[in-house]
Parts: sequence; C-alpha cells; structure tokens
Amino acid sequence: MKVRTRFAPSPTGFMHLGGMRTALYCYLYARKNGGDFILRIEDTDQERFVEGATEVIYSSLKEGGMTYDEGPDVGGNYGPYIQSQRKEIYQKYAKELIEKGGAYYCFCTKERLETLKDDLGNTRYDKHCLNLSKEEIEQKLRDGVPYVIRQNIPKVGVGTYEDAVYGTISVDFSELEDNILIKTDGLPTYNFANVIDDHLMGITHVIRGSEYLSSTPKYNLMYDAFGWERPCYIHLPPIMKDATRKLSKRYGDANFDDFVKKGYLPQAIVNYIALLGWCPKDNSEKMTMDEMIEKFSLDGVSKSPAIFDDVKLRWLNGEYLKAMTDEEFYNVAKPYIEASKVGTKYDNRLIAPLLKTRVEILSEIPDKINFLEEFEEYSLDLYYHKKMKTDKEMAKVVVPLIYKTLESIDTFDHDTIYTSLSNCAQENGYKSGQVLGIARVALSGKEVTPGGSVELAQILGKQESLRRLQFSMDLLNK
Ligand code: GLU
Repeated sequence: MKVRTRFAPSPTGFMHLGGMRTALYCYLYARKNGGDFILRIEDTDQERFVEGATEVIYSSLKEGGMTYDEGPDVGGNYGPYIQSQRKEIYQKYAKELIEKGGAYYCFCTKERLETLKDDLGNTRYDKHCLNLSKEEIEQKLRDGVPYVIRQNIPKVGVGTYEDAVYGTISVDFSELEDNILIKTDGLPTYNFANVIDDHLMGITHVIRGSEYLSSTPKYNLMYDAFGWERPCYIHLPPIMKDATRKLSKRYGDANFDDFVKKGYLPQAIVNYIALLGWCPKDNSEKMTMDEMIEKFSLDGVSKSPAIFDDVKLRWLNGEYLKAMTDEEFYNVAKPYIEASKVGTKYDNRLIAPLLKTRVEILSEIPDKINFLEEFEEYSLDLYYHKKMKTDKEMAKVVVPLIYKTLESIDTFDHDTIYTSLSNCAQENGYKSGQVLGIARVALSGKEVTPGGSVELAQILGKQESLRRLQFSMDLLNK
C-alpha cells in the first residue's frame, strides 16, 4: 500500500511554525516511504475567510522546500483539494451516515440550545432530535426548517486506538458529545470533513497536532460506520514557548514568515523545527532536507512537549550562513546591506564576506556595518593598545606614513594594500600589527570593526580612505 500523507491547514493568513512542523513531518514521512504528500485546504469555516491566505500556505511550503504531489494549485486525481469546493460530497456522505445510524438531523433552535447550557456556559446536546420520527423529520425538511446534522455518539462504550507516538488512547464515549457534522449553511465542520476527505483521498497516515488526540475516537466511529479502514494516527507533541505556555500566534512570534523577515533562512528554520519533537538516531542537528528524509522515523518522535529555543535557532541559522559560499551569502545579505546606512555607496560584494561569520541572523547586518558611515570625531585614546604597544604619539607619526603609502598605490585591492602597508611598517621600524592597528582606528574611528584595516581601506576606496586619514591627522595634531 502506498503511503499517503496530507497537510490540511485552515487558511488563517499566516503559517504558524507548529503547522509548518506538521507539514514537514508529513513530507518527510511520505518521502522516506516513497509515498505521496498532499496539500488540502480546510476552509469550511467561511466566517474566518482571509483574503490571500491560501497563497501564504503555498508559498511557505515552497520556500520551506516541501513540494507537495497533489494540492489545489498543482492538481491531482483526488480533487478538489479545497474543502469549500466539496460541499456535495459531504452532503452525500452525511445522508449515508444518517441512514447507517451514525448521525441525525437536529432542528433545535438557538433558544432551545441556550436552555441546555451548564453553569460554565457549555452546551452539551441532549440527543433531543434523535427521538424524532421519520415522518416528523421529513415534514420539517419539506417545511424548510433550518437544521444541522449531528454525530450520534453511543451513550456507553469506549473508543480505543493506537497512536504511533502516544500509544493506546482510550476515550469513554460518555465524555464525547454529538458534535455538529453539517452546519446550517450546508458546509461540514472539521469533525466530518477530515474523515470523509482522508478516506476519499486515500490517506494512510494522519499526522497532526496532539489537540486532536481525544477527538479521534469520534472520527473512528465514522470510519467504522462507513465500513472504511481507519488510517494510522501520528499525533505530534505541542510546541511550547516555555514550560507552561504554548507557542502561539497570540505571542506574535511564531509565524514562519515573520522569522524569514527577521533574517532567518527558510532552510534553517525548517531544519530547526524538524528537531522540535523529533530526534534522529545519530543525534544530528544540522541536516539538509535529503538527510532529514533519510533519517526520519516515527520512533524518534517524542510525546513530550518541545520547547522552542530561540538561541538554538539563531545558532543553527548562523551555521547555515557560515556554510554558504561568498556568492550565496552575498545574495541573501544584499538587501540587508542596502537597507543599512551604507546603502549602495560601496561595493557590497566586498562588505558581505566580512559579515558571513559575524552574524547569526541577517537582520543583524545593518548594526554591524552602520559604523562605515558613522565616521566622526573620536577619542584619541583608541590608539592606545597595550599589547601592540601603540598610542596616539605613535599614531601622530604613523598615520601620515599610512597616508603616503596609500596615496602612492594605484591598484586598491586587498593584496596591494596589505603588502604596501607591511612594507611601510618594515621600512620604518614598526611591526605590521602596529601599522594595521593604527590604520584601523584612523580609517574608522572605532576600536573594533568587522574585518581589519586592509578590508576597510579596500571597501572605502582610495579617495575616501585618504579623506579619513587626513581627518585623523588633523585630529591628532589639534
Ligand atoms: N485544519 C486542521 C487544523 O488546521 C487540520 C487538522 C488535521 O490535520 O487533521 O488544525
């Protein structure tokens, strides 16, 4: 039997990291087992319609590298893949379920349901309409009385199933209620649509959040009533912000898109969320998608809540940046460099390599390079360096030498600058470290900079380097 998994998000307008992880595990499991990965949009809650929300889902999955084999925008043999386009299908099966005794029409008014509220304001339906005769039901339907269709949960008994992560799950039917399967608007609820679609779409493995663990016995009653084979269930542990709070959109920091905007790489985010609830046998952390597919197995999935660790995500992102070629890094860093004070004034290809090992997330870039544009009067104490044995008196002599050296070279590339400054040091009886250290302060007005004086001079170019050296000579001679 071919493995078929599905990711079934509701289009809310953002892609929560928890959803992204579910999608990832569905994807990894399908790929690992040579199966199919399907995207289904669960939009039956029309009140929650958000413009452009499905596009967010498509683009997040694509950016995260999870190609689906079937879905609304790619097609497939089991469509439509958008639930609101499957209304007739649900209607047909709801009627069939009524005939089989697994569901019933309910014509109760809002007012009557109000009277069923308990002290906490929860309504538990009392199966009132289950007692209507066939004739009464037909009459009401003919009269156009609004209705819903409810699931008929047995009053006694226990629903049991095996979950691949949580083990045996048993729920007493007395704890479940006769949920609505078809709403007055004729559209199904999640409770119904997930079962019908998972069956009709040939889903073999249902992978989803642990919040569905205890309602799964309800779904199983439907599979059983229809005489359909139940899928395998894999419920995933919650992702927590800390020991007590779930990571949720309410904290405003759990959306895939937001992380990308903050300067995390999609592949690093995806790699990190893979580890939220799954640990590969060899404890690998940094993994490509292919490695994750190869290593993925359900025994590595834990039922303990996973804690979202910002620091670790940053670290992992930094590892991805470091592993990039200069060209790859330049491409991702470019918009951030351009957004800094530096803009497009210098050759940004020279700036990018200085940053590759010095930032963990791309949004740190502007802060690291703004100094390039913040050259102004600085303290002469910066020339004092105990170990290098430099100070402002030495700088008074050395800065003019640096000026003359740089003025005399025509090719302003790294090697030429470096060689000429080293020669200048040697010829005048200084250590190269002393000359380079003084040059750094004289060119930047800062004690520490990403990259050394040679890189700095190269980025600034001859004209700007000489202007700054002149400024520093004036400052030293004030
Ligand atoms: N639409 C449901 C959700 O977004 C899907 C749950 C499932 O995967 O069955 O939570």
